[in-house]
Amino acid sequence: MPNFSPSLEDLRQRVLSCQRCPLAQSRSQVVFGEGRAPTELMLIGEAPGEVEDQTGRPFVGPAGQLLTKILESAGIPREEVYITNVVKCRPPGNRVPTKEEMAACWEWLAAQIALVNPKIIITLGNTPTHWLLGRSEGINELRGRFFPWKGGIEVFPMFHPSYLLRNPSSEKGSPKYLTWQDIKAVKARILSLRSPTPAS
Ligand code: URA
Repeated sequence: MPNFSPSLEDLRQRVLSCQRCPLAQSRSQVVFGEGRAPTELMLIGEAPGEVEDQTGRPFVGPAGQLLTKILESAGIPREEVYITNVVKCRPPGNRVPTKEEMAACWEWLAAQIALVNPKIIITLGNTPTHWLLGRSEGINELRGRFFPWKGGIEVFPMFHPSYLLRNPSSEKGSPKYLTWQDIKAVKARILSLRSPTPAS
């Protein structure tokens, strides 16, 4: 039987020529996303920055390097997760993407989520957190909690690594300190979802 379900590569080919919003005019490259698929953990950022726009890869600039370190500190190799953004093209000057741009890109992100089939989605910063959860509280309120989402997926908001670059203290209670707690909580949750213990 022929297989008619699209793969991530089929999807990527479609997204590479996307003209659904004005960001298509100013981008150098579409930044589709990368990583393992299917996989347990997916990360969603806001939008490509300058280095991502130049290379076509998500989270490879300074914020991306910090993100890789955060993952690895909890024993989560970057190659084992899937990473993408709410919008696939860089907004000029790294401004926050508009609702219209996020809506235009949603079909792509929704298809990626379906194909990656994660158990947990980490949303990085306010933009992907508000977009997925439809809530308006700030990231300080929402981070560090597992929110039940569609299809049994849990959404776990964390600080965006760019915010951590601007707030480098790792003193107890600082955003960086809390982020290290958060990623450990994600690792523990992955392990418990793999081998649930019977309720005592
Ligand atoms: N910031 C994001 O939100 N995404 C990237 O890919 C890079 C920086």
